Amino acid sequence: MIARVSLEIALRKEFDYSIPPGLAEQIEVGTRVQVPFGARKIFGTVTALAEESAHANLKPILKIIGAQSLVTPKVLKLARWIGEYYCCAPETALKSVLPEAIRKEKEGWKKQLFVRALPPAGEFPKLPKRQQEVWNIIEERREMPLAELLELAETTAATIRKLEDRSLVEITSEISERDPYAREHILPSQPLPLNPAQAAALEKIKAAMNRGEDGRSKIEDGKHLTSALSPLLANSQRGEGEKLSSILHPPSSTFLLHGVTGSGKTEIYLQAIAHTLEQGKGAIVLVPEISLTPQTVERFKARFSSGKLQTLVAVLHSHLSAGERHDEWHKIRQGRARIVIGARSAIFAPVEPLGLVIVDEEHEHTYKQEEAPRYHARDVAIMRGQMEHAVVVLGSATPSLESYYNCKRGKFALLELPERVDDQKMPHVRVVDMRQAAHKEKGIPIFSPQLKEAIHQRLERKEQTILFLNRRGYSTSLQCPKCGFIANCPNCSLALTYHRIEQKLSCHICGHNEKVPSVCPIEKCKNPAIRFAGTGTQKVEDVLAKLFPNARVKRMDADVMKHKDDYRRILGDFRTGKIDILVGTQMIAKGLHFPNVTLVGIIYADLALHQPDFRAGERTFQLLTQVAGRAGRGDVEGEVFVQAFAPFHPAIQYARRHDFAGFYEQELEFREQLKYPPFSRVALLTLKGRNEEKVKFSAEHVKREIESKIQSPKSKASPGSAASDLGPWTLNLVISGPAPAPLPRAETFYRYQIMLRTRAMSKLSQALAKIVASLALPEDVTLAVDIDPVNLG
Ligand code: ADP
Ligand code: ZN
Repeated sequence: MIARVSLEIALRKEFDYSIPPGLAEQIEVGTRVQVPFGARKIFGTVTALAEESAHANLKPILKIIGAQSLVTPKVLKLARWIGEYYCCAPETALKSVLPEAIRKEKEGWKKQLFVRALPPAGEFPKLPKRQQEVWNIIEERREMPLAELLELAETTAATIRKLEDRSLVEITSEISERDPYAREHILPSQPLPLNPAQAAALEKIKAAMNRGEDGRSKIEDGKHLTSALSPLLANSQRGEGEKLSSILHPPSSTFLLHGVTGSGKTEIYLQAIAHTLEQGKGAIVLVPEISLTPQTVERFKARFSSGKLQTLVAVLHSHLSAGERHDEWHKIRQGRARIVIGARSAIFAPVEPLGLVIVDEEHEHTYKQEEAPRYHARDVAIMRGQMEHAVVVLGSATPSLESYYNCKRGKFALLELPERVDDQKMPHVRVVDMRQAAHKEKGIPIFSPQLKEAIHQRLERKEQTILFLNRRGYSTSLQCPKCGFIANCPNCSLALTYHRIEQKLSCHICGHNEKVPSVCPIEKCKNPAIRFAGTGTQKVEDVLAKLFPNARVKRMDADVMKHKDDYRRILGDFRTGKIDILVGTQMIAKGLHFPNVTLVGIIYADLALHQPDFRAGERTFQLLTQVAGRAGRGDVEGEVFVQAFAPFHPAIQYARRHDFAGFYEQELEFREQLKYPPFSRVALLTLKGRNEEKVKFSAEHVKREIESKIQSPKSKASPGSAASDLGPWTLNLVISGPAPAPLPRAETFYRYQIMLRTRAMSKLSQALAKIVASLALPEDVTLAVDIDPVNLG
């Protein structure tokens, strides 16, 4: 027998190996193996078995990784689709479906070394500084894996052996299933009686589950998805066609659950999962990394930790240790855990059979992976659902325009929860025109008089306030009012941000730091009155301290959240009332429940509107709606102040009126006029390199290649040109650029972009893959292809 192996190097090619007699029993499609490649040993995955090979003298497989085949045939198929659709090497796609800890199987179920603090015998010795530091960590944790301690204490095993010599700790080797939630004490929960809107939504989801495979159209998997995701059919389905399409297409198995925060979406997820378990199937729940809080996980564990449906709930996210991830993953693979909660990559969890996929906060941009394979987990979820006949539920208070549009044209079924479970009113939103405040104060104020007064009232009434500003640091930039000099990063084309406490200027892209100059550094200027323009969260915090000296203020942004526990700790303090005012970036915009928060202030609401991105309006609307949702979760009605310089912008006005449909309709019109998604699909090609001329030249070369190889209806390619092998369909291709990227220079690289818009992305991806493979770019210029980008920077 011969095994075909996809190696972990992006060669876009598979290789044949012979199977040694001893391994024949264990090797199947999906088995992870180690094979010789030249002088090296390389990991790979078996993608097919064959009787014979076209090559002679095959080398044998060296060994098998893991006790079980690790990539299930279904996940393998999904990986293949990702490689094709997202235009990346199949090896790269395949690599991303297994967590690193599983791919290399370094951890295994092997015994792990644990360090445990021993009860002190006699007086505690005086320790050298380093040992004392390490001891402090062990003393607090009592017991922890050695590997984790070494990393945390940045020390070596030798230091710990010294503590062992002093009989302060013992080091033991143990097999233990590493359970990241072992310490949590979780009380079982029961399903809640649903309100009518919830019940109606759940009924539809259950009906789709009961239909199962039979109710589906017999369209071949891959093709079916393409049509689910691509707006290709959009126009033909408008108006008259709409009735016809509901006959042609069976009821959808993908749902968009649109409900404000607190409308009871999670309860629906829980009961839908219970239904899937009853059918003997499992579920995957995707949540954005930042919402993967212990409280979220607890709600799922609590529901399924007892009773007749009892099953393990596995959790997959980036804060787990490699060992924990290994164990969680194998609980799934062995079928012991039938529910998986995780961030983006949990969509590849080997749940079988899969009955349900939930994507919470489906509009979140963090579902898009920003390195190859640049997949969007929501879209992969839809694809996987199609392939495995699983029901997919996308949930959000502010759905993406794409998903909303897919409902409109009958691809997804829309489920709405129009009210909060507790019958609370939506908060009252007041838009404050900052142009007036600026006029009165000479210069740009942070707080309008109205917001100041509102904060004052909350402090008196002992209620809590959240202030939101999507910009870190103290001031955005350092600017000389005389000559116009702006302190820019030497590596990136971006202004440096002032951080007052550290007295430094730093770049939020590459992390470059420098000292704050006391005079303008331009030789001819040397103006000592150089000053700061703009405002960041740190400055808000400072100004608050002056305005309300007695208020307890805490800031939450990437600058203060250095440790993984910070987030939890500050939120804990806020919940228990130890903080009056929480200031933060989008980190605090997510679904947190704080009953005592009655005021939310958005400092500069139109900050995001000025980004050079066609989604700027959508993002602003979503952000305002999400942030506003933080107010009034308890008994007192909430109030939201939106401070804006463009108070009449539709994104702001529709958000003020909580008019979701109104905003989406007008935004769809704008997108349609300009042929932006969801009326087209975008492929963004970014070329980067250190030599600007070369990058620019290469970008132009790439564009010419695309033009000559892809036939668009306008450019009449001559018969017999390469275009003909792209088939008779039309891509309806629009090419823009090349142009410098919105951030033209990042981390010393120059960046040029070409934007392609098409109505048939899978076809374009195929064509692009061929073109990219045949390109001859200079060695120091790289090309990245991003299909369906969410970040145009
Ligand atoms: P969402 O996920 O939309 O934010 P949740 O499902 O978290 O909403 O519900 C918000 C709160 O309301 C939670 O505390 C939840 O336990 C409660 N809740 C949800 N559904 C019901 C119900 N049918 N009856 C009573 N309480 C409910
Ligand atoms: Zn920089």
